[in-house]
Amino acid sequence: MAENDLNNPEIDIPDELKQQIAVTTLDRIYNWSRSNSLWPMMFGLACCAIEMICTAASRYDLSRFGMEVMRPSPRQADVMIVSGTVTKKMVPQIVRLYNQMSEPKYVIAMGACASGGGPFKEGYNVVPGVDKFIPVDVYVAGCPPTPQALLHGLITLQKKIEGEHIPDTRWYKKGEVEALPIPILGPDLMDPRHFELIREETHKPLPVVDVIIEGGETA
Ligand code: SF4
Repeated sequence: MAENDLNNPEIDIPDELKQQIAVTTLDRIYNWSRSNSLWPMMFGLACCAIEMICTAASRYDLSRFGMEVMRPSPRQADVMIVSGTVTKKMVPQIVRLYNQMSEPKYVIAMGACASGGGPFKEGYNVVPGVDKFIPVDVYVAGCPPTPQALLHGLITLQKKIEGEHIPDTRWYKKGEVEALPIPILGPDLMDPRHFELIREETHKPLPVVDVIIEGGETA
């Protein structure tokens, strides 16, 4: 957003004062400052992560967007870039990291794998998209997406943030925001909210089935 874009377009400012003053709304200045100081989490899963690293390097330079500070701790980051194949083994850790990020927080699904499973969608060990477990704000297409595509995704996220309205944002609402349930990895992923039901079903006695054996007897 250019400096003059901070002005509320509904308020006329004389030309000679346009470079000196800005009349704006709280939403506009708040969103402008937040969208230009996003801190991504240092976190990569597979080949897409190489493109993400490349985006942060000097040729593409994330610092032009105020995003160069990749944080190694979820508590200091506000953008999770899920860059790579999301395996069932990794999902519990991803959800836990998401829960540990402070509000406001956003998620970008980078590439075909994070968005929908990609070439491994049918694999026994891969989830068909990280959005089944955490809310995704922007999807970046490609296998892998280029650094330019990731930059486009980040600019799209900035635009989304610029459209937010303070009273509607969940982190300013009263009451606690419930943490997302962390899936448990067993023979398959399990939602801990259904633990009791799964246990009951598992311990139910098997139905008795009559088997007819040769000669007409039952066993
Ligand atoms: S989308 Fe393609 S490049 Fe990215 S992690 Fe999956 S296989 Fe690798």
